[in-house]
Amino acid sequence: MSKIEIEHLYKRYDNAENDTLKDINLEIDDKEFVAIIGPSGCGKSTLLRCFSGLEEVTKGKISVDGKRFDNIPPQKRSIAMVFQDYALYPHMTVYNNMAFNLKLSKFSKSEIDSRVKEAAQKLKLTDYLARKPAQLSGGQRQRVALGRAMVRAPEVFLMDEPLSNLDAKLRVSTRQDIIELHKQLGTVTIYVTHDQAEAMAMADKILIMRDGVVQQYGKPEELYDN
Ligand code: ADP
Ligand code: ADP
Repeated sequence: MSKIEIEHLYKRYDNAENDTLKDINLEIDDKEFVAIIGPSGCGKSTLLRCFSGLEEVTKGKISVDGKRFDNIPPQKRSIAMVFQDYALYPHMTVYNNMAFNLKLSKFSKSEIDSRVKEAAQKLKLTDYLARKPAQLSGGQRQRVALGRAMVRAPEVFLMDEPLSNLDAKLRVSTRQDIIELHKQLGTVTIYVTHDQAEAMAMADKILIMRDGVVQQYGKPEELYDN
């Protein structure tokens, strides 16, 4: 169970004159896939970074399953992030890219092996485990990034424009991969995109942000045009 609650969340960057996030209130149910959309600069990434702990919250709180989350040290939060630029380790094989964080966390070799192989199978990467990132297509690389996030079995996935570096065709197929993965794992996912069609196609709920506030939040079919 991972129910997320964000209450009266404010973020003001050091030296900034205004709040970047202003009184954000949000509930995300267990297993939900929430897409955040809104124009560039409205605070989407800031909200994700507050969640991950890359940025401190200025005021308000974030909780997961009723437990305070925003004061947990970043490295102890049970999250995994996927970015647009993959951020894979170029000198490591696909296998070791996916295994790396688990090795750091001192998982046993057999546990690492079974998690990596299961992720590879789900993501159609089994035949590519021995390759280096440079020997993969963009879509395969992004699937490795998903695999690396997935093997950690996080409570929450945070995805920041994960498809925006892919060409149109790969974007559609990788989108399907992410939907499929979410169906299988049921992990709560917060997904930032500037692509409204992508959000409509993928998400259970959509959050429309503007100037640091929540403008609308609801199921795709409940949102009104403006
Ligand atoms: P989005 O992801 O929606 O494009 P961001 O969250 O990246 O928006 O940025 C929201 C606002 O916060 C922007 O005005 C941006 O200039 C500002 N901002 C982002 N990061 C910082 C920072 N580290 N310091 C000061 N201001 C920042
Ligand atoms: P380390 O660098 O930590 O010693 P290894 O690369 O030797 O790790 O791999 C450890 C285990 O990971 C191997 O026993 C094997 O089961 C698995 N493994 C590594 N690379 C692959 C691969 N390309 N395909 C399948 N399994 C692999």
